[in-house]
Amino acid sequence: MILVSACLLGENVRYDGGNSLNKELLELLAGKEMVPICPEVAGGLPVPRPPVEIVGGDGEDVLAGRASVKSAEGKDLTAAFIEGACKVLEELDLQEIEFAILKSKSPSCGVDRIYNGQFNGQLRQGPGVTAAYFMSKGIEVYTEEEVDKIKNKLKG
Ligand code: SF4
Repeated sequence: MILVSACLLGENVRYDGGNSLNKELLELLAGKEMVPICPEVAGGLPVPRPPVEIVGGDGEDVLAGRASVKSAEGKDLTAAFIEGACKVLEELDLQEIEFAILKSKSPSCGVDRIYNGQFNGQLRQGPGVTAAYFMSKGIEVYTEEEVDKIKNKLKG
């Protein structure tokens, strides 16, 4: 099975109530066993919800207790983000997971770049909380932008 950020599949679970439907990805994955996941909703957060960023580091730092997930107003949502990352894997057999395709730049799903925690629209390197958690479990993660890599994985 392939885990996919639910917003990429057209589910209206984004913080703003919308989705990030990626038709190219859907075509690429046609006929594959996909499991949609949204760690923020799994962590108990509502739709819509305030936008947040990781303050003081990246997702690995959040998991290690060195950084936190906060809204621009300073509301701390770190616990919900960690809980959501854990919950989306809870019912799944890790051995069955081929890889994951996660929405780029999200504080949960971002794989290699996330917003820098200063709410100024700038990015920094590093994964979101869920991507970091998945990597810690040995799950390969890609963003929807890595089409060539995904194609190679599907061939292999
Ligand atoms: S947490 Fe991930 S799946 Fe959910 S809306 Fe954000 S990017 Fe999409």
